Amino acid sequence: MKHNIAIDGPAGAGKSTIARRLAAELGYVYVDTGAMYRAMAYYFLQNGIDADDEEAVAEAAGKADVSIVYENGEQCVLLNGENVNGMIRREEVGKMASAVSVYPPVRAKLVELQQNLAKKENVIMDGRDIGTVVLPDADVKIYMTASVQVRAKRRFDELQAKGQKCSLSEIEQDISERDYRDMHRETSPLKQAEDALLLDTSDMSIDEVVAKMKQIAEGVV
Ligand code: C5P
Repeated sequence: MKHNIAIDGPAGAGKSTIARRLAAELGYVYVDTGAMYRAMAYYFLQNGIDADDEEAVAEAAGKADVSIVYENGEQCVLLNGENVNGMIRREEVGKMASAVSVYPPVRAKLVELQQNLAKKENVIMDGRDIGTVVLPDADVKIYMTASVQVRAKRRFDELQAKGQKCSLSEIEQDISERDYRDMHRETSPLKQAEDALLLDTSDMSIDEVVAKMKQIAEGVV
């Protein structure tokens, strides 16, 4: 049996930074499921698919083959065989991912891929529905969150550091909208699993969160 750690929470809570660090420290494989939804979204954007057209999205989802390989420990998302890691981080792709992830055909395909990965390796997987749907039997489940203001400021600093022009209030609004959509969709809404531990990172540094998570993981796994 493989050991699995599930981390869920809203955008900007620090899930991927923490999960990547923790995976390296514990010798687990880090699986970023948001990147899979982003790869799918990138395909739709490239092919001019309207996010509101459920039928077109479902048909296009059948043509978008998403898979994962690891190079030097880093997750590479392949879209129809091409590494799209460099293409999927734009805000536009994140917005599209949030819009199309409401559709069951999109989710079904990616959930299957995620479950297969977790069967083969000890994984730390982050996303929105990992503890509730993808890995309901995970050994450790964490629901990581932070206030909208703190999450928006983190994203703002990240974009500024990359030299990208951005507005804090626009990011805040975008995060609020994404939270609402992720938490209120019919299929696999973002919510804390009943057996997940709540971790609010608003007033914590990355090192503090990693240390706390390590304690939790080592205590249970
Ligand atoms: O985490 P990230 O911002 O990369 O995810 C992009 C979008 O993909 C999220 O806003 C969410 O709508 C969707 N997603 C999801 N389920 C997951 C991971 C991501 O619905 N397990």
